[in-house]
Amino acid sequence: MDKQVQECWTALEERVQGYIAAADRERLHEALLFAEEAHRGQKRRDGSPFVTHPIAVAEILAEMCMDAETLIAALLHDCIEDTGVTHEEIVKRFGITVAELVEGVTKLTRVQYTSKEEEQMENLRKMFLAMAKDIRVIIIKIADRLHNMRTMNHQREEKQRMKSLETMEIYAPIAHRLGMQKIKWELEDRSLEYLDPYGYKELSDSLERNKAVHGEILDRVRTALENGMREAGIHGEVFSRLKHIYSIYRKVFEQHKTFGEVYDIYAFRVIVDSVQDCYNALGVIHDLYKPVLGRLKDYIAVPKPNGYQSLHTTVVGREGIPFEVQIRTQEMHQMAEYGVAAHWKYKQGMADVKLGTEKNFEWVRRLLENQQDTDPEEFVRTLKVDMFADEVFVFTPKGDVINLPAHSTPIDFAYSIHSEVGNTMTAARVNGHIVPFSSELKNGDVVEVLSSKAAHGPSRDWMKIARSNEARTKIRQWFKRERREENIIHGRASFEAELRRNGISLSEITAEDVLPAILKKVSFNTLDDMYAAIGYGGLTSQKAVNRIKDELMRINKLRPQTGKKKPADPPKAAGGSTTGIVVEGLDNCLVKFARCCTPVPGDAIIGFITKGYGVSVHRTDCPNATAAWKKDHDKGRWVGVSWRMDAPMTLSTGLELYVSDRDSLVMDITTVLSTLKTRLTALATHKLPEGRYSITLSVEVDSLQKLNQVLARLQQVPGVLRVNRVGARTA
Ligand code: MN
Repeated sequence: MDKQVQECWTALEERVQGYIAAADRERLHEALLFAEEAHRGQKRRDGSPFVTHPIAVAEILAEMCMDAETLIAALLHDCIEDTGVTHEEIVKRFGITVAELVEGVTKLTRVQYTSKEEEQMENLRKMFLAMAKDIRVIIIKIADRLHNMRTMNHQREEKQRMKSLETMEIYAPIAHRLGMQKIKWELEDRSLEYLDPYGYKELSDSLERNKAVHGEILDRVRTALENGMREAGIHGEVFSRLKHIYSIYRKVFEQHKTFGEVYDIYAFRVIVDSVQDCYNALGVIHDLYKPVLGRLKDYIAVPKPNGYQSLHTTVVGREGIPFEVQIRTQEMHQMAEYGVAAHWKYKQGMADVKLGTEKNFEWVRRLLENQQDTDPEEFVRTLKVDMFADEVFVFTPKGDVINLPAHSTPIDFAYSIHSEVGNTMTAARVNGHIVPFSSELKNGDVVEVLSSKAAHGPSRDWMKIARSNEARTKIRQWFKRERREENIIHGRASFEAELRRNGISLSEITAEDVLPAILKKVSFNTLDDMYAAIGYGGLTSQKAVNRIKDELMRINKLRPQTGKKKPADPPKAAGGSTTGIVVEGLDNCLVKFARCCTPVPGDAIIGFITKGYGVSVHRTDCPNATAAWKKDHDKGRWVGVSWRMDAPMTLSTGLELYVSDRDSLVMDITTVLSTLKTRLTALATHKLPEGRYSITLSVEVDSLQKLNQVLARLQQVPGVLRVNRVGARTA
């Protein structure tokens, strides 16, 4: 064995000697040999054999007295990610628990980190906790990060900063949440060293320069506390230290002070045998020094959310320097130092204690799902992190974390981004693969929505598939709005027919100087509102036209005769009949087919009078047409159109195919088209990730029926995932 490896291993062995059973130490050694073999030839940046890293991580965990499975998993934690070792091999050699711990760490390793605003950070932290499932995964991951931070000086500067930022924003707060204060401090200090090297150096230099002064103060107060306790007959120990660098650093910035001005840098800890003695010791301290009002905190009676318990008081020393004293029992101290990890250490010496009855661990139990059904042994072995059981955290392709209700689907994801993203969704990719809309998202999934402006909108099934209220509400809104548009179309057609019967042209009532009075007369804000009401049946077109007719006559009487202007007619083209389109109220006008939705004979259509290019024919469900409906200045430019049954014609229309790549797929597609005697006028392919393509086609068909036949046949071609109608890019 390599000398460096041997040294690391000896250190680990010494740590586990005291508390891990011989049989488990044997398994640990097996794991060492396995890891050494797997990482053979790999080196760390400082040139040492790679396996020294997992051994060091295991040692950090052994210091916290973590159980054998955690230590074995720590030795193997980089095997799946960095070597050819598989999950199955680890199951076979070390059992399912170890394998799952390793798998869990691997998954966390794969989460991509980019710095974000605080809300995103909180989601990322929750995602970490939610992904881990077993809390030991998080503890291993934190120990892994701690060792990486300890050896960070060998890394490139850029990596140092990135890892330090991640440590500061993700790992230190998680360590804090789990109550692992000691590790949290070290993570913060080591990160600060890279994030603000000058600030860190200035501060640590200043502390170093005044080491003697600080040392003297620390010693004097400690001795005074020890003497006071002895005289009061309280058994306990007093520890003194300077606060950790990052906490002083933060005070400097939060209080806008210089390093010299921050006095609150001394920390004393009194550890006693019982809760009663905590309060007795507090009395002794307040006799010796003057307490600062409002700084006494009783975290014994009211523990912090992460389980932390202590008495805190700040007192003023003889030199007028304030300092904090924390008073707690040995058990509380273990919790304060190691947090949730102390759980295992505590367990070692107290095999008979029913953990379920221990008040100290109530906060840990809150992490458990259905914990009342769990027996104490099970509780220790499978501490689950189910704080976020009702949520799921997924990534956008850009790395933003989106927080959704548990069991959410790509539909929920799309609508949480934006209603338009949901309404135009045509397909969804999860981790690079196209998935059904109903598939359930898992923590850490990368979700991507493919959308098309020509999508037909949500289907009613989506309401059943969606889990979030947000998505359901937005889908419902869409249907409400869409119905309104259908109503407008129908109402308008009926209204215009009634107008014609009465010999009134639409332009007569939409003239700028007339329309407001007309709308007032019928009590609607816009013509669309009136059409919608007619379409819905809330108002008959006869009634509307009668009222308008009265108003029109009144206005025309008032208006000077010369002022009656005719609206500019759209340019007329000879042979309008050859277009195969009947335009209501316009005999002979130029007709063209909108490129955005490329209607084919049989589609429900509507005409739009363009400025100078005749009537443009859209499908009634074309998003452009529905969008244009809403523009006030476009009111009155819509006109009913229909297909001439006596003038058949062939039109080019656009299709979009999502396909997975395979040999001669394009040939098969063209074969289908030629079998159906359908002319292909354009074809373009666009490469997507993961061997997927989107293919846009322009085909010529003479009817909707024919088009549907083409769509159905294309859908059957192996490799074709989805076929949509879209706007043809070439016509
Ligand atoms: Mn590692």
